[in-house]
Amino acid sequence: MSLIDPLGRRFRSLRVSLTSACNYACDYCVPAGSLLKPSPDALDGADLMRLVTLLDRVLDLKKIRLTGGEPLIAPNLSAVLEGLREHSAEISLTTNGQFLARHIDALQAAGCKRINVSLDAMDPVVFKTMAKAGDLETVLEGIELALGAGMKVKVNTVPMRTQNRDQVVPLFDWCSARGVELRFIELMRMGHLQNGAAFDQEFIPQAELVDLLSEFGPAEPQPREANSTSQTWTNPRGRFGFISNESAPFCGDCDRLRLTSDGKLYGCISSSHALDIRDALTLPEPDAIALIMDCLGQALKDKQPVRFSGEQTIMQILGG
Ligand code: SAM
Repeated sequence: MSLIDPLGRRFRSLRVSLTSACNYACDYCVPAGSLLKPSPDALDGADLMRLVTLLDRVLDLKKIRLTGGEPLIAPNLSAVLEGLREHSAEISLTTNGQFLARHIDALQAAGCKRINVSLDAMDPVVFKTMAKAGDLETVLEGIELALGAGMKVKVNTVPMRTQNRDQVVPLFDWCSARGVELRFIELMRMGHLQNGAAFDQEFIPQAELVDLLSEFGPAEPQPREANSTSQTWTNPRGRFGFISNESAPFCGDCDRLRLTSDGKLYGCISSSHALDIRDALTLPEPDAIALIMDCLGQALKDKQPVRFSGEQTIMQILGG
């Protein structure tokens, strides 16, 4: 089975969700009143890393990003970080930053040099209203510590019209003062936002965000790097970026593969087609590789040609 699709796409970048549990319950991620729980079938660190190693053997991964749920509350975190030392791929992390400070040394020892922190507000009340938990100051301290440790930090913000539109300027102000790239993730039609009025009410298009930041001077888009979901813009104060599934879709050269904490592969962030590779843990290596290659071939067919429209899957188990 070919592992390159008709658009020339192949999997080179793996997102590993360490746990489906999260200490936040952000409005864009889960419906009101819901909490994210760990999968009853969550793998321990050794088994999850065994699957990562098999995938790396087949795909020669360029990048491995840890995500969740919230990866920094995962019980398998230290075993995964230990296992990652064996891998030559670039290691990175996506986190809400609440527990960043206490894990920075272990992350560095595992070779993690890039951290994306999800942060939706500079106002503590707006922050709490959106995340339902956490403490803004603790997140900001975590970012400062990571920067001080020489890590490359980006801040990811999901703008929502009725919630944090007024936070766009303060977020850019704070980030640009520290040389941190702020990236806006356009609201995605996923999970509870797939259908219905909430998406239309909350969605803020990229062009409106560019306009909001015009008080910092004229902004210019930079050429998008191949396989990147984001496009960077520059203005006289610094850099900011967009991950815009609606305004500037990026599926055409997507090289991402997702592995959940319970051993399922997904070829697209908005796909609900789970490909279970747990059996690879009990098979002799040649059979395990054959199983994985078969699942990868199927996962590749789930990639979308231009943009994704979302299925009833939930980003929180797949990570961003
Ligand atoms: N807990 C980690 C964090 O907070 O970064 C990793 C998982 S979280 C699901 C990953 C990313 O998904 C976050 O940056 C979040 O902002 C984004 N996200 C979740 N649902 C979204 C939606 N409907 N539209 C846009 N972004 C979304």
